[in-house]
Amino acid sequence: LFQNVPSAPDPPIYATTVAYNKDPCPNKLHLGIGVYRTEDGKCHTLNVVRRVERTLANDLSADKEYLPITGMPEFNKLSAELIFSSGSSAIQESRVTTVQCVSGCGSLRLGAELLAKHYPQQVVYLPEPTYGNHPNLLSAAGLTLKTYRYYDLKTHGLDFQGLMEDLGSALTGAIVLFHASGHNPTGVDPTCEQWEQIRRLVRLRGLFPFFDCAYQGLVSGNLDADAQSIRMFACDGGECLVAQSYSKNMGLYGERIGSLSIVCKTADVARRVESQLRLIIGPFYSNPPIHGAAIVTAILKDRELYKEWTTELKAMSDRFFRVRHQLYDALCKRGTPGDWSHIIKQVGMYTFTGLNEDQIDFLTEEHHVYMSSDGRISFGGLSSKAVPYLADAIHDAVSR
Ligand code: PMP
Repeated sequence: LFQNVPSAPDPPIYATTVAYNKDPCPNKLHLGIGVYRTEDGKCHTLNVVRRVERTLANDLSADKEYLPITGMPEFNKLSAELIFSSGSSAIQESRVTTVQCVSGCGSLRLGAELLAKHYPQQVVYLPEPTYGNHPNLLSAAGLTLKTYRYYDLKTHGLDFQGLMEDLGSALTGAIVLFHASGHNPTGVDPTCEQWEQIRRLVRLRGLFPFFDCAYQGLVSGNLDADAQSIRMFACDGGECLVAQSYSKNMGLYGERIGSLSIVCKTADVARRVESQLRLIIGPFYSNPPIHGAAIVTAILKDRELYKEWTTELKAMSDRFFRVRHQLYDALCKRGTPGDWSHIIKQVGMYTFTGLNEDQIDFLTEEHHVYMSSDGRISFGGLSSKAVPYLADAIHDAVSR
């Protein structure tokens, strides 16, 4: 039956991981994937998560009954409060509907499906560049993709003028995807003042903002600050969509836990939108899994566990910041040709190095350093002790 099915290529990031796993070199570095690793290269599980899991395992009253189609109600309520703040006017006016999703990707896809079915303008503008899975997730739902300028190759910073021009001339009512904070892959975010200008333009032109928030708390170390862009849009009375992920900020990658929130004009619209989300989710996977939602809910609802989480989150974001500066200092000390100051200007889990394909291949072949082919480095896979090795390798690749 399937004799004529052609084999599909591996997604690039899997190919990098396969090559890394095969490499016997003890010094090899995997900087390609956005996973926070311990100093000895293991995926880091937060202590607060381990603690909650022990409690859940011993809780004889907890069962494995199916969740509602839209997920665990308490998880949805707490997730909305985390992203919009508990004092949010949109929440208080019951204009927000939040549903549990299969992590950030599932939330993006569900949001795209909702827009494809019920939003009149089927064109979505993505920042150039953007997270590699965005085009697939959005186009699979049937939306048409366009891009807006975002990254300035010359300054290694934001092309704010290009962004404003492109959104200024975007199709009326088009959907615009924004990274809430810690832009992947560039590590370049607009300032608060720039966000305000973007917000005004978006509202003026009747564009529809779709936020992707995959790094809340890991960018500045502060959960509120990292959701600021979203909150500016959520409190102006207008509509927006927010995809939220707990993969990175709770280290729950494999649990696949996240949420989709839709801020609507009225409570009645929010109720109707939720009913439509049920119609999309039902024939897709019926209802979402329970374990990740139970972990997140336990942490968000308990003051002490929440505090423990924010302390661990701050430590993770501090390490990104520290290693970022160590790498910059190490390159300066070696006199590596070029200006590397963008490494310390960029924020979050990634830096967009500006290394070209030839240099990246050289790093992999000669120095066993694995990274994305666009030159992105994930600080999640870089410990302080590996910085000198990486700096030597980059120096070698750039000085050839
Ligand atoms: N959005 C962005 C910008 C991301 O970087 C990622 C993960 N790399 C995701 C969404 C989705 O992650 P997940 O499905 O694991 O939550």
